[in-house]
Amino acid sequence: MKIERNKNSPVNLSEIFQATLALDNEIQKTIPSAIFFLANENGQVVVTNKTTPGFPKVVEEGMPSFLTKGQFPVVVTSRYHVDVISLILPQNDKTWDGFLGVIVDVVDANNESLRTFLLCFKQTLLMTAHLLETKQKLLLLQKKESSEQLLSTVLKETEYTENVDVFITVFLEKIKEFVGIGEFTFLLVNHIEDRFIPRYSTDNSGGLKEMIEEHPLTVSDVSNALNMLKVDEDLILVRNHPLQMGVTALNELYEDYAFIPLVKEGKLFSALVYGVNQERISSYLETHLIDLLVDGMGIIYKLYNYELVLNSQKRKDLLLNVTKKFHSSMDVSAILSDIIDALKQVFPSFDVYLLLSHEWEVSDELPIMQLSYGKDKSNEVATNAYLTGKIQIEDIILDRKSVLYAPLRGKQGVYGVLKIMASNSFVFPQHEIDFIEVLADTGGNAIENAELYQQSRQLVEDLQLINRTSHELNSNLRLSETISYMKNQIKMSFDAQEIGFFLFRPNGEFEVIEGSSNYFLKDSNLSEIVTICRRIKNNQDPLFIGDLSSEFPYLLKPLRSFIGVPMVQSGKIIGAVFIVHEYAYHFSFNQFKLLQSLIHHSTLAFTNSMLHEELETLVITDHLTRLYARNFLDEKVQVSMEKDAYGCFLLFDIDDFKQINDVYGHQVGDDIIIQVANILKQNIKNTDIAARWGGEELAVYLPKVDLEVGAIVAERIRKKVSRETSPPVTISCGISHWKQSNLDKSLKTLFNNADKALYSAKRTGKNVIVSFDKDTCYL
Ligand code: GH3
Ligand code: MG
Ligand code: MG
Repeated sequence: MKIERNKNSPVNLSEIFQATLALDNEIQKTIPSAIFFLANENGQVVVTNKTTPGFPKVVEEGMPSFLTKGQFPVVVTSRYHVDVISLILPQNDKTWDGFLGVIVDVVDANNESLRTFLLCFKQTLLMTAHLLETKQKLLLLQKKESSEQLLSTVLKETEYTENVDVFITVFLEKIKEFVGIGEFTFLLVNHIEDRFIPRYSTDNSGGLKEMIEEHPLTVSDVSNALNMLKVDEDLILVRNHPLQMGVTALNELYEDYAFIPLVKEGKLFSALVYGVNQERISSYLETHLIDLLVDGMGIIYKLYNYELVLNSQKRKDLLLNVTKKFHSSMDVSAILSDIIDALKQVFPSFDVYLLLSHEWEVSDELPIMQLSYGKDKSNEVATNAYLTGKIQIEDIILDRKSVLYAPLRGKQGVYGVLKIMASNSFVFPQHEIDFIEVLADTGGNAIENAELYQQSRQLVEDLQLINRTSHELNSNLRLSETISYMKNQIKMSFDAQEIGFFLFRPNGEFEVIEGSSNYFLKDSNLSEIVTICRRIKNNQDPLFIGDLSSEFPYLLKPLRSFIGVPMVQSGKIIGAVFIVHEYAYHFSFNQFKLLQSLIHHSTLAFTNSMLHEELETLVITDHLTRLYARNFLDEKVQVSMEKDAYGCFLLFDIDDFKQINDVYGHQVGDDIIIQVANILKQNIKNTDIAARWGGEELAVYLPKVDLEVGAIVAERIRKKVSRETSPPVTISCGISHWKQSNLDKSLKTLFNNADKALYSAKRTGKNVIVSFDKDTCYL
C-alpha cells in the first residue's frame, strides 16, 4: 500500500452525522422513534443513528428501488413511513452525493412536519460538516505549525550544530516525543557496501540495528522496490507493499512502518524508518510529519556535506603539517609520531600500529609491532603489503573488523607497514585510502632519508678511521706499536672484545703476533685458532660468522660473533686479523666490510713494520749462532757503563779448534760453535748479552754483575761445554770487569783485560777460566 501525500484526510461522514444528531436534540425529542440515515447515490445505507440490526430490513433492501423509482418524498410500506431528500455534502475539494432519510412508524407519520424536520436536519448537517471541516483545517494548521517549530527547536537546542550526529540524535528524540508513539531510526546509505547502515535509533534496545545485521537492507533492493512501485522520490514504503524482499528486517521488527528514503543528486542518500507496533502507521503518519522528516533529512544531508568539506580541509592541513615536518626534520620518530597523530585525528576510533622490521631504531612511545614476515601466518597480509609495496585490506569477518595495511614506501624500498584497524566492518572509501597512502609514503621517505643520512655519516666516519689509521701506520711505527695502535682503533670502532693478529709463515706455520689480546695468546686456544687460520688461508676469503655456536659449536667457546679478515700483500696472504665478541650477531655486515677495508689499507704499513723489525734483528744477530753481533754487544756495554754501577765481561775461546776442523771438517766445526753458543744462551739471564766475538771466540756481558759472580757463571759454562758438546771440546775464558770508580773505565780496557786473561788461561793449559784481576784470580 502506498500513502499519497499532500492530501488532507477526508472529513468523516459518520462523524458529521453523529455530531449533527448530538447537536439537534429537538428532532430526537419530537419523534423519539425516528431513525435517521444516509444512503449513497445507489441507495445503499451507509450511516444510521440506530444499530444495524435495529434498522428495518425491508426499508434497507427496498431503498435502491425506491430511489430509482423516484417514489420519495414519501414512501410507505405496510409498517414504516419513510421520507428521503437528496443531500450534497462538501468534502474537501469534492462533494459527497447521496440522500438523507428518516423512518417513522406509520402511526407517528405526519407528512408535513416530517418533511420539515428532514429539511431542518439537512441544514444542521451541512452546517456541522462545514464546522467540522473548518475545525479540522485549524487543527492541521496548528499541528503543522508545531511540527515546523520542532525543527527550529532542534536547531536551537543543538546550537545550530555542525556535528551531524548531534543533530540526528536530538532530531529523532524530539520527533519521537512529538509523535508520542513508535521508534525512529536514521539509516545512512553506504554505496560501496550496498547497504543502509543505522546511524541512530530512538529504540534503545537496538532492535533495528541488530535486525539489520541479520537481514541487511541493501540499496539495490530498496531502489528496485521504489522503481517497481513506480513511485517518485517523495513516496515512501510501508508494510505490506508488494516487494518485501528488501525490508525483511522491518517486517520482522514492526507491526507497521514507514520507510522514507532521501534521494540526492539522483542517488539514495539516507532513509528514516518510523516503526510502530500498536496500530497501522497511517493513523500517525500525517503529511506534515512526513514533511518534517524529509526536511530533517535535508538538514542532515547538508551537515554531512559540510562535514565532508571540513574533513577534507582538515586532512589537507594534517598532510601539510606532516610534510612540513618531513622537510624540516631528520627525526624519524617525530615524523612517524606525527603521522600516527594525524590518523588518530581523522579516525579517532581506529587502532593504528607501525610494523617495522627490527633494524629501525625509533622511540618506544610509538605503537610499534614487530614485522616478522615469513614466520607468522596471521601476519600474512602485512607481509604482502611489505613485499609488494601495495596497500592491502583484510576483512576479519569473525571480529567484524577491517584492517588496512599501508606499506611505508621510500624511493629505494619499503621500510615497514602501517596497520590501521577499524571495527564494525568499516569499508575504507577510496579517498580515505588515498589519504592514508600519502601519509604512509611520507613515513617511508622519512625513514629512508634518515637511513641514507645515517649511512653517509657512517661512511664518512669509516673513511676517517681508515685514513687516520693508515696515516698513523705509515709514520714508521715499530711492529709492536703498529699492533697496539690497530688494536685500540679496532676495539673502539668495532666494540670487539678480543683482537688477534696472526702471521702465516712461508713454512706453513701460524704464529700469533705478540700484542694480540690475551685470549689469542693462550696456548690452549692455539689449535682452534690454527683451524680457522688454515680455513682462511685455504679459502683466501674473509670469514663473517654471526653465531659461532650454531655454525661451529666446537670453536672459540664461549665467543659467538666472529670476523676474520686476511692480510694480503702483493696477492699473497701473509696473515689475518680476528675480532670476536661473546654476544651473537654483535657485528653488523657494515662492520665486516669496514674491517676488510681497514685491514686492506693497513697491511702494507703492517708488513713494512714487520720487515723493518726483521731487518733490524738480522743486523744485530750473528747468522750462524743467532747470538748478538759484536757491534750490538759494544752498544749494550756502552749503555751499561753509563747507567750501571759495575759489570762483568767473559771472553771464551774454544781450545784447539783448529784440530776439530782438521779432524771433523768445517761443518762439524760450525756445529760445535753453535753448540757452545746455545750453552751460553741457556746459562745466562735475559738481561745478559751473549755475542759472537769472532771466529770460535764468543763473549758474554753481564751488566750489574761483579767479578765473583761473573767467575761463577764462566765456570758453570766451562763445565757444561766440556760435558755436553759432541764431539767434545773444552773452552778457556778470560774475565774482566769494571766499576764506576775505575779511572780507566772504557770498552777498550775491558776487552783488552779479558783478552789478556784469556791469553793467560791458554798458557796455563786451557779448559780454565782466568780473571784479569790478579787479586781474585783462581784456577
Ligand atoms: P787454541 O787452543 O790456542 O785456541 O788453539 P786453536 O786451534 O783454537 O787455535 P786458534 O784459536 O788460533 O785458531 C782458530 C781456528 O779456528 C782458526 C780457524 O780455522 C778456525 N775457525 C775460526 N772461525 C771458524 C768458523 O767459523 N768455523 C770453523 N769451522 N772454524 C773456524
Ligand atoms: Mg781463537
Ligand atoms: Mg781457539
